[in-house]
Amino acid sequence: MISLKSVRHRYNSVNTVELPDIDLQSGTDLLVLGLSGSGKSTLLHILAGLLKPTEGSYTLQGTNLYALNESERDQYRGKNIGVIFQQMHLISTLTVFDNLKLAQYLAGLKPNSERIEQLCTDLDIADKLKSFPDELSQGQKQRVSIARAVVNKPVLLLADEPTSSLDDLRSNDVVLLLKDQAEKNDATLIISTHDHRVKSHFNNVVDIDKIQKEVV
Ligand code: ADP
Ligand code: MG
Repeated sequence: MISLKSVRHRYNSVNTVELPDIDLQSGTDLLVLGLSGSGKSTLLHILAGLLKPTEGSYTLQGTNLYALNESERDQYRGKNIGVIFQQMHLISTLTVFDNLKLAQYLAGLKPNSERIEQLCTDLDIADKLKSFPDELSQGQKQRVSIARAVVNKPVLLLADEPTSSLDDLRSNDVVLLLKDQAEKNDATLIISTHDHRVKSHFNNVVDIDKIQKEVV
């Protein structure tokens, strides 16, 4: 379902990131462990179709995302990949409901209010549908960004250090919430973190500190 082979990304003459080979069947999960600077965000951006690696191959469901043109790739991503970044990028002038509706629209899908309402009920933010992002707590904003990532039922759900700013208890809650949403949507879940405590929740773990080498 996901195949990443021999990928390295050369940002410039001094920064080359070497990434692990990844071969995942659909519906499974992967935890990407690594210290700061080890390449977690680079890996997730490549998997999301946001950064074309300078070497190696990547296919998702047999599709080479980087062979598509930019607008095809944006649409493919909108329909098939849900991404949760540390910076949530919610649109502050739109309500929670409209932020989610926009995600459907941008993927070229029909607006589906029922889906939005059902999802927000499931994520316990149904009473916030008419609120603006600035009126929400950090935790609620994060739930909106999870809702936005899964609203189009992606086959792949990516979360880059979703727990880094949270205390232990909340961090565990968010991991379980992501797992639950991935399962309900039959999505493959890939989370990056430097936090080894969440390992036990995952079927597959890759430690990129061990793979990362000094490459010149
Ligand atoms: P992590 O997310 O694990 O902290 P990153 O993927 O952000 O790691 O970074 C991996 C390496 O790539 C680091 O050495 C970083 O300095 C370098 N890097 C990341 N983004 C850029 C960029 N835009 N330009 C140059 N080097 C970069
Ligand atoms: Mg990072």
